[in-house]
Amino acid sequence: MNLAQLGPRNGDNRAMNPSAGGVFTPDAFETRAVQALREGGLRITSPRLHVIRKLSQSSTALTANQIHDQILADGDQVDLVTVYRILSTLMELHLVHHIGVVDAYTACDLESHGNNTEHLICTKCGSVQELDAPGQALEATRAQLQTLGFNPDQIKIEITGECQKCHN
Ligand SMILES: [Zn+2]
Ligand SMILES: [Zn+2]
Repeated sequence: MNLAQLGPRNGDNRAMNPSAGGVFTPDAFETRAVQALREGGLRITSPRLHVIRKLSQSSTALTANQIHDQILADGDQVDLVTVYRILSTLMELHLVHHIGVVDAYTACDLESHGNNTEHLICTKCGSVQELDAPGQALEATRAQLQTLGFNPDQIKIEITGECQKCHN
């Protein structure tokens, strides 16, 4: 498994990927992100919009470097530090998630949720899907944590494997 080499595929569209949760078309994600920025008293800057669009249009998680490269390839200007800063702002707003196994970022598929996330990451095509209801696995984890006396801030579940498209 070499997840680090998985990159975005041309012509991919996250709207084409059915997800267990609420499905957002790229436009819907952008609309929601813009609204969340406004509500947070944050300006809708062109670099912020560029980052939102790149994540919205990709079915795979993108590294900060990939987002940066794609924006430059479009002929727009932004520096890498700004991309990282924008990503952390978007993560604070729960609009973007960091996927640890690929050290990359993905647009949130759900309308709203708390701190806990569950993602399926395909090791063949790199597609990322967000699960709506972590459900029983999460309940079992919570029970275990309680036994250990551990108070969790956040539970992130990342499941790697083959997506339906690659498996069939
Ligand atoms: Zn999410
Ligand atoms: Zn796949």
